[in-house]
Amino acid sequence: MKTIDLRSDTVTRPTPAMRAAMLDAAVGDDVYGEDPTVNALQERLAGELGFEDALFVPSGTQSNLLAVMSHCERGDEYLVGMAAHTYKFEGGGAAVLGSIQPQPIVQAEDGSLPLDRVAAAIKPVDPHFARTRLLALENTWHGHVLALDYLAAAHAFAREHGLGIHLDGARIFNAAIATGVSARAIAQHFDTVSVCLSKGLGAPVGSVLVGSAPLIAKARRWRKVLGGGWRQAGMLAAAGLYALDHHVARLADDHRRAAHLAGCLREIAGLNLLGQYTNMVFVEVPPERLQALDSYLHTQGIRISVGYMPTLRLVTHLDVDDADIERVVQAFRGFFARG
Ligand SMILES: *Cc1c(COP(=O)(O)O)cnc(C)c1O
Repeated sequence: MKTIDLRSDTVTRPTPAMRAAMLDAAVGDDVYGEDPTVNALQERLAGELGFEDALFVPSGTQSNLLAVMSHCERGDEYLVGMAAHTYKFEGGGAAVLGSIQPQPIVQAEDGSLPLDRVAAAIKPVDPHFARTRLLALENTWHGHVLALDYLAAAHAFAREHGLGIHLDGARIFNAAIATGVSARAIAQHFDTVSVCLSKGLGAPVGSVLVGSAPLIAKARRWRKVLGGGWRQAGMLAAAGLYALDHHVARLADDHRRAAHLAGCLREIAGLNLLGQYTNMVFVEVPPERLQALDSYLHTQGIRISVGYMPTLRLVTHLDVDDADIERVVQAFRGFFARG
């Protein structure tokens, strides 16, 4: 029985065609800037998103950290959502490694940072305070797509207050596909954007940070300092290029499957469907039944993450097809029918 893993879109495995592309990749030493496939990936994403330069890095966590460390110096601060990945799920890296203080902002329901709250958090120029330098947003956030007019307003706000603006765009292509705009139309409102290749795009490893040439030069230096300078990384970059060619448009399938799953779960008594946003479905299950549900789904070859989020998050991705969704629906029905 095939295991259906709904814990995250990070669990995808490279397809045979992606593996073939990796095997065939031309490589060189990327610390010397000589890996042709890494260079091609960087040039491609910089061009596609409308930036001067780009940097291929091992993870989204490192990409966001490099962005924060490139915008900010020691003693500076960045404004970031209280539940944003860049604040909550990255080990406090900006503070630990950059001596950069986060200023968390309570987010709106959709993940946006209300600009009046952001304005109130900007520190005066005074030796008492950290220097506020950067606004960091996330799109999609828990699957939610931030509205383009909000992004435009945040961009204008950042300019007005002399702040840099960074996007954790781990799932920027989900946002683009869901709204029918180009990723560039989203990215144009930012100075730097971090894109994950290893989420819904299905590459085994890697993120890309795009930005101006000076910011990416700083990020490249910090990547080396962090031990992230890599050598024949072209085999990994080839997977990223393959993903950009073949796995972007198909994100619509993930969104369609998530919507279908949500529609079926909504009909089941005993659980509470909270919502579906792009490739994520959020479900509330009575806390006392959560472990039993998890165990039951295990016997049906279905994996979910329990206990990490306050609610259950089910994520669709490259390795989940229509038949898998039917199996998941049947399993949920089976469990809740037992009362
Ligand atoms: C996964 C993720 C990251 C970090 O990516 P890793 O490669 O796991 O370090 C950053 N931001 C968001 C929104 C993510 O979902």
